Amino acid sequence: PAADRPDYLQRLNPEQRAAIETTDGPLLVLAGAGTGKTRVLTTRFAHILLSGRARPYQILAVTFTNKAAREMRERIGALLGEPVEGLWLGTFHALCARMLRRHAEYVGLGSGFTILDTDDQLRLLKQVIEPLRIDTKRWPPQGILGVIQRWKDRGLTPERVTPAEDCDFAGGQCRPIYATYQARLVQLNACDFGDLMLHVTEILRTRPDVLAQYHRLFRYILVDEYQDTNTIQYLWLRLLAQREGQPANICCVGDDDQSIYSWRGAEVENILRFERDFPGAAVVRLERNYRSTAQILGAASGLIAHNDGRLGKTLRPGREDASGEKVRVASVWDSDDEARLVGEEVERLRAGGHSLAEIAILVRAGFQTRAFEERLITLGLPYRVVGGLRFYERSEIRDAMAYMRVLNQPADDLAFERIINVPRRGIGAAAMQKFHVAAREGQMPLAAAVMDLIARGALKGRAREQMTALMACLARGREALPREGHVVVVETLLEESGYIDMWKADTSPEAPGRLDNLKELVRALADFESLGGFLEHVALVMENEENAGAERLSIMTLHGAKGLEFDTVFLPGWEEGVFPSQRTLDEGGLKGLEEERRLAYVGITRARHRAVISHAASRRIYGNWQSAIPSRFIEELPAEHVTTTGGAAQARSRTFGHAPLSSTAFPVMARRPRVTDVGEKGPTAAMAVGTRVFHQKFGYGTISSVEGNRLEVAFEKAGPKRVLDTFVEKI
Ligand code: ATP
Ligand code: MG
Repeated sequence: PAADRPDYLQRLNPEQRAAIETTDGPLLVLAGAGTGKTRVLTTRFAHILLSGRARPYQILAVTFTNKAAREMRERIGALLGEPVEGLWLGTFHALCARMLRRHAEYVGLGSGFTILDTDDQLRLLKQVIEPLRIDTKRWPPQGILGVIQRWKDRGLTPERVTPAEDCDFAGGQCRPIYATYQARLVQLNACDFGDLMLHVTEILRTRPDVLAQYHRLFRYILVDEYQDTNTIQYLWLRLLAQREGQPANICCVGDDDQSIYSWRGAEVENILRFERDFPGAAVVRLERNYRSTAQILGAASGLIAHNDGRLGKTLRPGREDASGEKVRVASVWDSDDEARLVGEEVERLRAGGHSLAEIAILVRAGFQTRAFEERLITLGLPYRVVGGLRFYERSEIRDAMAYMRVLNQPADDLAFERIINVPRRGIGAAAMQKFHVAAREGQMPLAAAVMDLIARGALKGRAREQMTALMACLARGREALPREGHVVVVETLLEESGYIDMWKADTSPEAPGRLDNLKELVRALADFESLGGFLEHVALVMENEENAGAERLSIMTLHGAKGLEFDTVFLPGWEEGVFPSQRTLDEGGLKGLEEERRLAYVGITRARHRAVISHAASRRIYGNWQSAIPSRFIEELPAEHVTTTGGAAQARSRTFGHAPLSSTAFPVMARRPRVTDVGEKGPTAAMAVGTRVFHQKFGYGTISSVEGNRLEVAFEKAGPKRVLDTFVEKI
């Protein structure tokens, strides 16, 4: 009888309880967002332990992110009333890394193997292809790595890649490159990220003794976010779950409407395969959403209904509170305006007693974070960029900044060193050594030493050609600066140096995002009157690390937000070409568009109480204004669950047929007052301790110390910051 049930099962609905109490045999929980799938998995874990069916280390539990693993560990600890140790609980990669340490010798590795990061991976691959004389302009190493990674995602070791699987990329040489690359990794006692799954699966496939060992160990397997598993992950699960003569005690929970990783090889078909591979699998459906208000749920359900080929689920509000606020769609002029709107809302919520930890800004693409980051810094609101680097920390941004620094200051050796061989210009370690020696001996900057070596004929072949081109490119830029302005010059430099082309030729999934970040960087540059001014600004923004431990708002991508929930969610940039992404639109297929729509569904369903969608009427791309069309997803939201605000909205309803507005539609109104350049200000001697000042980024404050031209200012909102005197105005 229900009354005898332990407490932790009382607080669940009957379907959830069924999913937990059906402990033995294969089970698939297929249910919409916020229906308690993760909660079921966690409670099931506790139930298996508490009912004495298994010891903690006999349960294998897979989560999609490390954060989710941590949360699950905490939730299980709370349910059990004590922390649990020795769990096999983590992401696919973390679990495989642990397994591989135990059996590394079967794939020729020592147990102390290193896991390479992407930079190391690339360096190694470059070494492998060096002797092959591959045209790296046409077939960039990143692209080759991409091909290899996709093979790994599908469980294909070099031996398993058939000639038919090979592709045209790198002139059909990817297969041998892959084989050599793997062999080199073994020599280095290293593996890359993809190898973790690949090696372990290969060991389980070929070593029955090892497999049997895990079959004895793992009595139960639990998998969250099952819709986003790829082929190799599926193979790994199946190997571990299918035990001779015993039931496959595997429970997978997922939602086909939230499948958003097909670009990384995830296969929704794994859901359908489950019932085939595990005959007699029970399927449980959960229909009550306990996370979001009825309004939010209505909006999300209406949107996802535009997708075809869904498995079909019912989703009903499960919360007892009132139906809540409608989803807000706000129209703004541009991204700065959007950042201002979000900033104001956040301040309002905070003043109303809402915790920053319960607020998230979910972006489609990484480039979007910059405007919000700067706005939040200005307002002094602590934030973190979850699952990613802050804008100016990203490697392509650092590269581009290095180009700018060299342009601005030819003697900036560190920056010069960063760009000298990016893109590849045939400068190896030996050449670098030569440059350093020449610079030391001649007591001159690296760049000057290179010029000198070229002039003396001491540099030969490709390196000479490429370095001559680079130096000419920089010289032209410097010369054109006063005439053309820094925006055009930087843009040209990034093009002419081959830096942009390097990313354009890159076929890895991250490349388009990097190109967008670079465009955003040039966009930001246009807000400043000089290159020097911009470089100073970035240096200062970077210096202002927030105090750790403070309650912070989260900025993250929609992809990174899967499985999470917040009271308030901001969803900016809902414009055609941003969301759905330009790439999806260019490809033109229905499949891509449906995946974008699922991503929109994931975004809205992260919100408990409040969802604010925004779209800008214009975006500046490379310093040019372009009008933007609201995302089709906005129109697809059912009107009864939406309210629309913002001046641009009215303009939109008048002018948007769906023909794009001409790019002159919003001429000057969005122009920010520019940050004034060094040299235009009066004498700095007037800046004394106690002087009240205004700073474009940080607002009003009072000088607390002066050190040369560097001031320490206590800003009223942004807190204490160090700024340059030329960047503040006395008031
Ligand atoms: P997603 O698809 O986004 O991953 P989910 O299906 O995993 O969502 P959970 O995160 O497990 O959903 O649950 C959503 C919210 O609903 C959580 O805050 C959870 O604690 C709550 N919840 C789940 N089941 C119940 C219930 N029976 N009664 C009350 N609240 C519940
Ligand atoms: Mg979940």
